[in-house]
Amino acid sequence: MILKKAWDIQRESNKNIEDVLLELGLVSQKDIMHANAVKMGISFVDLSTYQIADSSVPLLITRNIANRYKVIPIEKDNGVLTVAMSDPTDIFCIDDIRLATALEIKPVLADVKEIERLIIEYFGEEKKPQGPKLKVLKNDDVRKEELLKMEEELLGKDIYNNIKGDVESIEPELEVITNKAFEQDNYNESGIFKDKIGNILVRAGVITQEQLDNALSIQRKTGELIGKILVKQGYIDRRSLYEFLQKQMGVEFVDIEGIEIGEDVISLVSANLARTHKVIPIENIDGNLKVAMSDPMNIFSIDDLRLTTGMEIIPCLADEEQILLQLDKYYKSDFKVLSAKDIEQKVADLDEEIQKVQEKIAVEITQTQEEDTTIDISDLENAPIVKMVNIIFQKAVATRASDIHIEPQEDCVLVRFRIDGQLVEIMRHDRKIVPSIVARIKIISGLNIAEKRVPQDGRIAIKIDDRDYDMRVSVLPTMFGEKIVIRIADKQGFNVSKLDLGFFEDDLEKFDQIISSPHGIVLVTGPTGSGKSTTLYTALKELCKPNVNILTVEDPVESTIKGINQVQVNVKAGMTFASALRSFLRQDPDIIMVGEIRDAETAEIAIRAAITGHLVFSTLHTNDAASSVTRMIDMGIEPFLLSSSLVGLIAQRLVRRLCPNCKEAIQPDMNERDILDLKEDEEVTIYRAKGCDQCNNTGYKGRIAVYEILTVNREIKELISKNVSSDIIKEAAIKMGMKTLRMNCTRLVKNGTTTIDEMLRIAYFKD
Ligand SMILES: [Zn+2]
Repeated sequence: MILKKAWDIQRESNKNIEDVLLELGLVSQKDIMHANAVKMGISFVDLSTYQIADSSVPLLITRNIANRYKVIPIEKDNGVLTVAMSDPTDIFCIDDIRLATALEIKPVLADVKEIERLIIEYFGEEKKPQGPKLKVLKNDDVRKEELLKMEEELLGKDIYNNIKGDVESIEPELEVITNKAFEQDNYNESGIFKDKIGNILVRAGVITQEQLDNALSIQRKTGELIGKILVKQGYIDRRSLYEFLQKQMGVEFVDIEGIEIGEDVISLVSANLARTHKVIPIENIDGNLKVAMSDPMNIFSIDDLRLTTGMEIIPCLADEEQILLQLDKYYKSDFKVLSAKDIEQKVADLDEEIQKVQEKIAVEITQTQEEDTTIDISDLENAPIVKMVNIIFQKAVATRASDIHIEPQEDCVLVRFRIDGQLVEIMRHDRKIVPSIVARIKIISGLNIAEKRVPQDGRIAIKIDDRDYDMRVSVLPTMFGEKIVIRIADKQGFNVSKLDLGFFEDDLEKFDQIISSPHGIVLVTGPTGSGKSTTLYTALKELCKPNVNILTVEDPVESTIKGINQVQVNVKAGMTFASALRSFLRQDPDIIMVGEIRDAETAEIAIRAAITGHLVFSTLHTNDAASSVTRMIDMGIEPFLLSSSLVGLIAQRLVRRLCPNCKEAIQPDMNERDILDLKEDEEVTIYRAKGCDQCNNTGYKGRIAVYEILTVNREIKELISKNVSSDIIKEAAIKMGMKTLRMNCTRLVKNGTTTIDEMLRIAYFKD
């Protein structure tokens, strides 16, 4: 009867039969999705009677993924993973599981209640996440509509139209996505399931659930390892813990305290990989690599090790603390400056020494022959040239230089430092010392000294005056010999608070708003050396909390941040921005930072990550905030994907700060008044750079960042999806209160921080 009525209505209204059934309340939204799934050839599995043959199969995915999508893997056969899903048409979910397991996915439909039951059975109870922001987000109509729009693009119009009528039915899914930021502390820094061992022990009856809960609550306060807490609380003794784990996991437990590992074995695994996964290679057994791991069940770690070493991996269990100790022992940079020279001493002392060394070198050079001599390394170790290179480094650090340039000229070699963005000549010398200096620098940065015809890149980790510096060395063959540029990154130098960045109050608010988005992509743009890394590091540090998994891939890693997993790009080893991003998605991150988006592939994965619930930070080379949009679209990103994922664009530049000791107050002339856009009767005092002995006679001391922050709100999103020009976007943003680089720089000139010259350097054209 009722069905007949439905058919009648359908005939009259020419509506889709599914819509009619929905309107009549005969079926639910879910029913229709299920029907569609079945129509698409996806079978249904009754999990209430289904027996999972291999109990390790459900654990191939993380609880996070299982919960987020309401899915559970039930069978693995021939590289195909059968996954019970409440919505088998969810391509994001299928993609995520494929990435996470590296298996082909066969989705099957199952009842969501049954899936939830199995998730609890295999992963244990999850505490209900709570958070005040949840409510705000749920009521956020903009977000809801965006989500609908995404759904439309992904599932096609038909399904979209079905869902559209009933926004409420989207609610639960919306909740799942927004909950992400509040998910409990279930993972350690590497995204590895933290309480797995705890759960195993409870299931085996070794400890009770109360003991585990208690240990977990201690862990939330202290951040200690769960095993350690269990031992400390006297719930289990250390020995039984490891014996149990050894038996349970079927892997050998090795005591690595005081163990001696050969350099040939250590060199098989990079420091980065070892630190990321907290593993240490201990023995090469006929081409199979025995690796001590704190979690030998972590298939991702084993996979990565197998891929990068090309060897079969024999995982062993070891105490995590011991592993960390061994990592410090074996993966420490062994290059140290021998001189205990006190850097605090005046630069003048160094100059004096350079003089002496130069004289000595001059003497030695007259005694030796032509410049194309092969360098004897052992000779070099104690040569004055070593001392000279060290002094150059020390002086660079003492003068806060960001780069060292060693440039062979036709008649001499020039050493220049970049200080506050400007190149300053430090010394000139006989060009005959070039081969020795180049050789010395190549040796300590791990480059090939015999190769002189191709450009090379290397790095030096160096400690000067108890601070760690990372020097990035680039060697370029030129007409007159190899030119060296060394970029110095002070590892502590990035340690600034967001208040030191130089935001005006209104921009700081926007910055806070942008970086607290639960997901989406934030792009920082500007030329090289505009301070983008400092801004990104500061943002990440703000967001770094024990329950947030942050991964970065950088080229180079300029500063290390505690609690964040940082990966160095290594193109030779196949670690590119794109490949790193791909493997990141298997590590269940909350926040991802990609050093730079240089190509279409990276752009695409970054956007995809942003849409699937991650907060992604990256940088682009563009002039201003608005033109980042066109750059991304030029790279092949669909405007609708960009508009639904972008949350903020930050353009920035560095300008030099006036030296407070010698800056000179002046009244702006007509031209300057015009540049500053002053009103006719507006009186301001501006300053001129003069120069004194406190500022190397430049008139400037230090630098400050100038920002332009474009918050991507609904209106901007609409413009982006319409693919309008960047000028239109910029105009709209200004109308909505965006302060451009030029406007903010004008503010800095007016408050006496910098000069009009500096302002024109970074923002020549009027907006
Ligand atoms: Zn001065």
